[in-house]
Amino acid sequence: SKWSARQCELVESIANEFILSTSKLEALSKEFIHQMHAGLGQDKSKDLAMIPTFITGRPDGHERGCYLALDLGGTNLRVCLITLKGNHELETQQKPFKVPEHLQEAHVSELMDFIAISIKKFIANKHINAKIVEHRTGSDTLELGFTFSFPVAQTAIDAGTLLRWTKGFNCPGAVGNDVVQLLQDALNRKEVNVHVAALVNDTVGTLLAHSYQNPNTFIGAIFGTGTNASYVESAQSIKTMKTDAGEMIINIEWGNFDKDKAFLPVTIHDNKLDRESINPGIHVFEKMISGMYLGEITRNVLLHLIDHRVLFEGTSSDILNQHWAFETKYMSDIEKDSSSTLIPIAQVLEQKLGIYLNTQVDREIVKFVCQLVGKRAARLSAMATAAVIRQGLAHGALHSHGYPLKLDLDEKDDADKGTGSSEAIRVGIDGSVFEHYPHFKERMQECLAELLGSHANELVQLGIAKDGSGVGAALAALIAAKNT
Ligand code: ADP
Repeated sequence: SKWSARQCELVESIANEFILSTSKLEALSKEFIHQMHAGLGQDKSKDLAMIPTFITGRPDGHERGCYLALDLGGTNLRVCLITLKGNHELETQQKPFKVPEHLQEAHVSELMDFIAISIKKFIANKHINAKIVEHRTGSDTLELGFTFSFPVAQTAIDAGTLLRWTKGFNCPGAVGNDVVQLLQDALNRKEVNVHVAALVNDTVGTLLAHSYQNPNTFIGAIFGTGTNASYVESAQSIKTMKTDAGEMIINIEWGNFDKDKAFLPVTIHDNKLDRESINPGIHVFEKMISGMYLGEITRNVLLHLIDHRVLFEGTSSDILNQHWAFETKYMSDIEKDSSSTLIPIAQVLEQKLGIYLNTQVDREIVKFVCQLVGKRAARLSAMATAAVIRQGLAHGALHSHGYPLKLDLDEKDDADKGTGSSEAIRVGIDGSVFEHYPHFKERMQECLAELLGSHANELVQLGIAKDGSGVGAALAALIAAKNT
């Protein structure tokens, strides 16, 4: 079908803003490494927090025991009982609890009381209780790993102060306080016999869990409501603390990369979203990548095209006019449609957005916009992943392995050089965007090959670590309990 000259012109100008060339990504990747170094040093005004996690080892799959895990990530609270059986095997019992919306902005003690009561209910269940009794190892107190997926300055394996809320949470009484203590106090108030042994960022949990099943896991990353990653750094590169261990997992907090937007190619549509968010100016990188935001960026672009009268004959709908009404999941549904008539897209437009009059050209434009936004997200994700791998190759945990991967775009691609016995570098990834967004993984892989060279797709394995954070928190509780 035929696009008008004006449609072509306007859509092309948007494409020009959203398409990221290899060389642009290379520049971003260099800057990312630069900001990693700043964060590992004493720089106070750092963009990347590069938080030491006090976790100095990775599981190898032989660990055993019964541990509780708690995950407060975004939309859901999950309580899990993890039974580690050794030999890379484990069993998980879990129950999700929906965090009532009003608690996202209530005083933090109310939120923690809700969590303590949820745990109490979970362990009172007779099946769970039977498991716990069966695997009891002496003490009546259950050890718990707490996955808390917000930026925390960790001061010990079981202590950390909340730096700021993200992802729609804004509970007073929490920022600046130790979230482990806040939870332990609530558990004590509600008389729940559980000890919070470890505080784990969800990305760290993902890394640990993936490592239980795939040794040589180097990065744990999340692409869900928000985005972040952690990786293994050599201790000598971490200038913000001293440790006797050879390596430590660092929580990058990469959502805050380039907070001054000096390098990130933000568009007016990103700026509009940021301004209207509850945390303007914060986590700008995350706002270009994660599930909470992609739909809203797309909505902004579509409204821009409607206002220029090149989409839906210039008519929006009540739903499309609503802030946050275009969910990221709709983009997945739209991108999935590869039919010639794009009737499934018409169904999304009608059923989800109340747009009944749409032409084939309209649907093509909508799909193209989703591709631009989705592809940019995947490429920025790959850019950050490549940067972290380069850091590991140049200075850190991957340094001595001699991987034939490029540290620089200008470096010769040793495509002929054998990969030797090098074991693949594993990246454990959790989150609905990675798991469900069509082509997200392939787009990341394509971009990794552009940046790291032709061996990237065999040497960098992106694997799903579904619900890894629960297992990872249990593993962290085990590591913490062993160390005390
Ligand atoms: P969380 O990060 O909150 O623990 P998820 O990993 O499920 O949980 O991520 C939730 C985010 O993923 C939401 O922002 C939602 O918009 C987005 N999402 C859910 N389903 C899909 C899908 N099919 N395709 C793309 N994004 C999705």
